[in-house]
Amino acid sequence: MDRYAVIGNPIAHSKSPWIHAAFARQTAQAMRYEAVLAPLDGFADALARFRAEGGRGLNVTVPFKLEAFALATRCTARAEAAGAVNTLAFTDDCILGDNTDGAGLVRDLTVNLGCPLGGRRILLVGAGGATLGALLPLLGQHPAVLTIANRTSSKAATLAQAFAPQAGDTRLGGCGFDALAGQGFDLVINATSASLAGELPALPPGLYAEGALAYDMMYGRGRTVFMQAALDDGATRVADGLGMLVEQAAESFALWRGVRPDGAPVLAELRRLIEAG
Ligand code: NDP
Repeated sequence: MDRYAVIGNPIAHSKSPWIHAAFARQTAQAMRYEAVLAPLDGFADALARFRAEGGRGLNVTVPFKLEAFALATRCTARAEAAGAVNTLAFTDDCILGDNTDGAGLVRDLTVNLGCPLGGRRILLVGAGGATLGALLPLLGQHPAVLTIANRTSSKAATLAQAFAPQAGDTRLGGCGFDALAGQGFDLVINATSASLAGELPALPPGLYAEGALAYDMMYGRGRTVFMQAALDDGATRVADGLGMLVEQAAESFALWRGVRPDGAPVLAELRRLIEAG
């Protein structure tokens, strides 16, 4: 049976084995998917061992996405743009690196949440790994405006400059939080790690245009602090990143197996399990 795994440290909390088992059932694929805990200084060894044992592919999570990028012998354009890899596919002579996070985000927004991105004004908050992975797929949707805002404003400006050649008709910019005052957005994506600590990025009030969606890449039971603050500040709709998690997994699954699972029913069931505690 073909073997796959998610590798990270820590890894016990990972929902990926559950998600991929659901995809395998849904698409009638004979495969096994497990969780591998790699020592913080032992990612390359753990990868080599898994591959030598016949493993066909890995999902890579915190803190190994940059190392995975360095170890891949070939990368997709979106992995090159992100400088990070969350999906590895092994063949005899190649370690292919891909980054499916941004595609998962876009699919969750456009398909699961019915939020078209073309011509819209998008604010992407944060300038870390999640933002890097999201930029190219978001630009591919041709929004009218894509503004990257970060606590450390220079990082946002640098990112906007780096992705300017891929911006096409999109007005791409980078700034600090204060510079956002007075602007309105149709979609605000929180790609900071602030929610993990129960904190909020210090955004100015009034950023949500009529009908706007606030999206927190973090997920969990109930609303995140960001989702609640967005509702309080006038966002019409809020969503967390559980759909992104499921859809990035679907994209990895499609790369490995050549068949695309339907993320929506798996997301609905996972949501039910999480809310039930
Ligand atoms: P990084 O550590 O790479 O980036 C952290 C970013 O958060 C930086 O821009 C940092 O700003 C900012 N930040 C941290 N704390 C605060 C704060 N208190 N106020 C304002 N800004 C803050 O993290 P990642 O990019 O890897 O992950 C970001 C989030 O996305 C996490 O919550 C992660 O769980 C989630 N994620 C979800 C996925 C999904 O499938 N749903 C997939 C990938 C990520 P500064 O530069 O100023 O330090």
